Amino acid sequence: MTDWNRVERLLGHDAMSLLARKTVGIVGVGSGGGYVALALAMSGVQRFILVDDDVLDPQNIVRHVADSRYIGKPKVEAVRDLILQRNPQAEVFVLQERIEGHLHLLDQMDILAVGVDGEGAKFSLNESCLKRHLVAVYAGVYERGEGGDVVVIQPGDGPCYACWAAELREGYVTPAPDGSDADLDYGQRRPDGAIDAEPGLWLDVVRVANTQANIVLNILLEGTPAERHFPANTVLLANQPLEIREGHITPPFSAEWVNIPRNPKCLVCGSYHMAATATEEMSLDQLLGEPARVDVRKTNNKLSLDGIDE
Ligand SMILES: [Zn+2]
Repeated sequence: MTDWNRVERLLGHDAMSLLARKTVGIVGVGSGGGYVALALAMSGVQRFILVDDDVLDPQNIVRHVADSRYIGKPKVEAVRDLILQRNPQAEVFVLQERIEGHLHLLDQMDILAVGVDGEGAKFSLNESCLKRHLVAVYAGVYERGEGGDVVVIQPGDGPCYACWAAELREGYVTPAPDGSDADLDYGQRRPDGAIDAEPGLWLDVVRVANTQANIVLNILLEGTPAERHFPANTVLLANQPLEIREGHITPPFSAEWVNIPRNPKCLVCGSYHMAATATEEMSLDQLLGEPARVDVRKTNNKLSLDGIDE
């Protein structure tokens, strides 16, 4: 029997009951998503839908919550087992497939944490979430774990992932129908759209994943005294010195919050956006906040995503 006393004293009884009723979907339970699942389970979330078609390889062990006992097993089953070891009462539905053929599962989720690193998969999830008005939290880890970002996409309020990526994924355009991506001038793109890059250490990946989990938890706790106010829709985390704002180096272990606005001309969210097209909708944060013009750069002017889905 799991003793939640200490968590409950922090969050409050009502917040704990609320968490127990919420279902968190996690698509991609690799180095980032696996951590997100376990962190949320240890914070009081009890219902999960885990989707990942991958099996745990020996090289995953240094970058995953699951250890060598799970080599050769599906990642979703390994992560389910780890959740149940912490909380035997948890209900964990797992699917060892790609999400694309099982999008109806999104209907069962209260929130989605995206743990895949292929931009193509993120774009397709974006459209599916917009259709369903499902809030999604996306995370990306930069090459060699030098930093990362987490964004909350609230359908009908602010940008969709495509609007957002147009601002913060320079070079990562919507994949062409044939899967090619001529604009990408660094790294090697695998057929699934993910980047082959030098992997970051797990401790750098986990800093981003932990932020993602924390933001998911906060959205679940909306309306309770445990809810915290976050100043914008995107947080950019530096693990190494990063030039996030032009001319300003963000030191290691610090972060910058930025609000990326919806692009009124976005072809993806335009058709799903609330019918308020007459007066282009802006959230209060956007109206109050600085115009979002963010340029994430490493010192050598290259930014690329590291895989969090491995
Ligand atoms: Zn959009």
